[in-house]
This record gives sequence, structure tokens and C-alpha cells, in this order.
Amino acid sequence: MLLSTRSPRHPRTAALLAAGASVALLAAAAPRPAAPLGIGDRLFPHLGNPGYDVRAYDISLTYQGDNSKPLDAVTRIDARTTSRLDRVNLDFSHGIVRSVEVNGSRASFTTGGEDLIVTPRRPVPAGWPMHITVRHTSDPMPAKDAEVGWVRTKDGLAMANQADAAHRVFPCNDHPSDKALFTFRINAPEKYTAVANGLPVARTRGGADTDWTYRTAHPMATELAQVSIGRSTVLHQEGPHGLPVRDVVPTKDVKALRPWINKTPGQLAWMEKKVGRYPFENYGVLVAEASTGFELETQTLSLFERELFLRPEYPSWYVDSIMVHELAHQWFGDSVSPRTWSDLWLNEGHATWYEALYAQEKADRPLETRMRNAYRDSDAWRASGGPPAAPKGPVRGEKISIFRPVVYDGSALVLYALRQEIGKEKFERLEREWVSTHRDSTATTADFTELASGIAGRDLSGFFHAWLYGAKTPPMPGHPKWKTQPVQRQAPK
Ligand SMILES: [Zn+2]
Repeated sequence: MLLSTRSPRHPRTAALLAAGASVALLAAAAPRPAAPLGIGDRLFPHLGNPGYDVRAYDISLTYQGDNSKPLDAVTRIDARTTSRLDRVNLDFSHGIVRSVEVNGSRASFTTGGEDLIVTPRRPVPAGWPMHITVRHTSDPMPAKDAEVGWVRTKDGLAMANQADAAHRVFPCNDHPSDKALFTFRINAPEKYTAVANGLPVARTRGGADTDWTYRTAHPMATELAQVSIGRSTVLHQEGPHGLPVRDVVPTKDVKALRPWINKTPGQLAWMEKKVGRYPFENYGVLVAEASTGFELETQTLSLFERELFLRPEYPSWYVDSIMVHELAHQWFGDSVSPRTWSDLWLNEGHATWYEALYAQEKADRPLETRMRNAYRDSDAWRASGGPPAAPKGPVRGEKISIFRPVVYDGSALVLYALRQEIGKEKFERLEREWVSTHRDSTATTADFTELASGIAGRDLSGFFHAWLYGAKTPPMPGHPKWKTQPVQRQAPK
């Protein structure tokens, strides 16, 4: 994700306070008190659920042509239990649940917090296949406490689920540590175009509607799901090695957007030169006419605000570097996703790194200047957001909560320090090995520091501990004169 700093925004209101899930139950009978469960993520303790591993989601959505009305939906989950389950918790908070089946039998269900809690007719033993079918609605109207999920665009819908909003759209195990394959089936009126992550599988027209089916070839985290429904045109290009590139743009803006869209193959080739083969089956840019306040690296189809490309005041080099930021995430964050949300610095630090490197190589904006500036601000960022690998938790009412400067330039700064410490050659080898070793998987901060130590040929744990967990920014290797600005103390009240 990359938050916009480029224009004044309507500040997100503090309306996040009203917690409380809005799952309404048509038929629920809780056999016992039900509590929301999570997998203990330090930043989002209730995200994810214990006891099973999702292999695949198959999500059917029926769009009526009105983005203020709930969509009818069926979510089919193909999972395997890792322990015996007499209750199955799913994350889901913004729709009406009509029925749930587990392994072909009707199950009872209730809610607790933002969990949909399902009681199968018979407990599911450990190590068993578990097929769950949830018939529900998916409401695109923003919840009081929602930081997105569905994004209502001028002509339809798009999705922005990072970090904890996928379960506002569909029932799921909403944590990046449980990646799965996805199939999306979208039914929409004929005049709309629907596109989702991955490759198109089928498109059938029946009467006034069209059914669109897409499937991912690689596992994906729920936070990276994308479904776009709009008056869109899909533009096709070819990337390196014949990689299919498909961009989704508002039909009325095709001409104006084409010069930007045409840059993607070159950016792909540039990234491949840096870190190796693009990890997925296709790529593209989704341009949405909506004010999100950010761009987002949804897998194989990154979401961008239309105004990034069409407002004249943004210099071309800047827009290019933002495009590269989201593209770099396809390797860093998508193919290799964080095991926990505290590993977010690995996503954003790397995406910021390649964003800045691209600006240096293509537009003469020195990386060193940007890093010196980041160094100056780093102590203040650590004070307000926590250190890079132990960021402070989400704060209600704060814009996209955990996405603070410390995980962007504050973490690119850690990578810069590492390159200073081990040298350019080893650093570049580390980057390539990182994305190939952990491709299609999840990885932790410890995985990164161990790989770095291995490549450096020496124990870097002291170096990393100071840079990733210290309240203060350590001295920059090779730049003894770089100084941080003192942190402003809050005046006592
Ligand atoms: Zn980002």
C-alpha cells in the first residue's frame, strides 16, 4: 500500500470508534457462548482462526448494477483441519449470512466480535478435508468502523482489503499467513466489465447478464484479493517473456491513460533485472475513479486512483515511481507475504526501496539524498510509530492505522544501512535469493535476517536488532556525519 501524500485529503473521521460487527443472522442457534478467535497476531489479535488451513476459496458475487446495494454471494472454502474442530471460526463482519454448510451438512452459526462462528453437525477430526459453503450478502456500503473492503467507485466497485478488511467482503481466514488459491465468479449486467486476480477462465452471456470467472495460479493472501466491476476497458499488452499484461481502466479515460499504462512492460523488465522473474501469471494496473487515499498492490492487478495519472501537478517521475512501488510489492508482500503484520516493514521497506531506486536511475533523484532525509526523521518516526519490526498497533481513527512513515522510508533506510554494511553485491544477491527462496509463501523478519547473515558470511543479529527493534536509529555505516533530528517531547499537560 502507499498512502497519498500528494494532495490534501479529506481526513478520515474518527468514526472508527463504533466497533461491533454488522453480521445479521437470519437463523442462528448458538449451542454455547461463542467467542471470536484469532491466531494471536500482535497487531490484530482477532484476525485469522486456529485449527484449519484454507486451500482454496471459490467466491460467487452477483452485482445488480447498484453499488449501494448488497451483492448476493456464495463463498465456498476448501480447507483442511489441523486440529479437531467442534466449532469453526471464520472472519466475517459485513453482510447477512443466510446459511452455512460444512462437509455437505447444514451447520448452525452465530457471531462473536467480527467472527462468524459455525457449529458443524459433527465435529471435524484433525487432518480432515473441510468444505464450507456460506450463502451470504456482501454489503459495499461502508461500515462505521470500516477502513474499506469494497471501494465504491464512480462506475461500480473495486476492492481494498489491506490489512484487515477482506472479511468485510467475504467470510475467510483473514490473515496473510494462510494463503490460498482463489476463484472468483462475478455475475453483472451486460454493460459492466468484471475483472479479478489471476487469469480469465470463462465468460458467458445469458440474457442481460454476463458471468465472468477468474482464477489465481498462485496462492494469495485474503488482503490482496481484487474484484473490479465497472464501465471499464481491458487493455492488453505483452511484458517480458510474453507475460500477459492486462490493464483495467475506465472506458472514458482510455486515451488519456494509455501513455501511463504503456510504461508497465518497461517497469516489469526493470524490476526483473533487479530481483529476477516476475512471480505471477499476469500483471496489470487497475485504475479506479474513487478517492481511496492510497494505491494498493492487489495481487496481479494493482489498484490506483485515477487522479494519480490525470492530475497535471504530479511530475511524471513521481507517478512512475509510485507505479514501481506497487509493482515491486508483487515480489515483496504478495509472492512473499508477511507471516505476521509486524513483518510489514518487509513489504513496505522493499517497495519503497525500489520506488526510490527507480527514481534515482530513471529520473536522477539520488537515493542517498532521500535516505539522508529519512535518517534525519527516523528517530521521530520510531517515536511515533514504533521501530520498523515492532510497529505500534492500529489506532482507531488514524488513517490506515499501521501504515506509518516508519514502515516506508523508515524501513527502506534499514535496507540502505544493510547495503552499506554488507556491500552492494551481497545486498543484491540477498534480494534475489529472498524472493526466490520464499516465493508463493510467507516469511518472517527472522527469515530475512538469517538469510542476510548467511549471505554476508557473518552474524548480523546485533546489526539487525539495533536497526529493527531500537527506539533510536543506530549510526549509519559509512556516513558518520548523518544526524537524526531530536524528537520533540510532548509538553506535559
Ligand atoms: Zn506499499
